[in-house]
Amino acid sequence: MSLKKIPLRTCIGCSTIRPKRELARVVLDQTGSIILDVSGRLSGRGAYLCRTDGEIEAVQKGLKKKEDLKVHANPACLEKAGQKRAFNKAFRSKIKKIGIVTYEKKEGK
Ligand SMILES: [Zn+2]
Repeated sequence: MSLKKIPLRTCIGCSTIRPKRELARVVLDQTGSIILDVSGRLSGRGAYLCRTDGEIEAVQKGLKKKEDLKVHANPACLEKAGQKRAFNKAFRSKIKKIGIVTYEKKEGK
């Protein structure tokens, strides 16, 4: 009804709690690399990082639909997560590569 529960998640970089849609989901792939889950539907253990400031603002203002908005992780949060080894903790695994590869959902064209 009127009060829909907004799912909240914590950024593993800066520890800010935000609505899930203001965060970028990252997952660990089979090669031990972290990839950005643009669709939000990749399987596997996920962790969350803030989106870029511009994207968060766009989401908050409802400027674009979620689907239209490209997902990027905030570089500062990404760096912090790497320094704190938050990725290793989040995924309970040794991360081989911290560089994020953007995963584009496009099928066909
Ligand atoms: Zn953050």
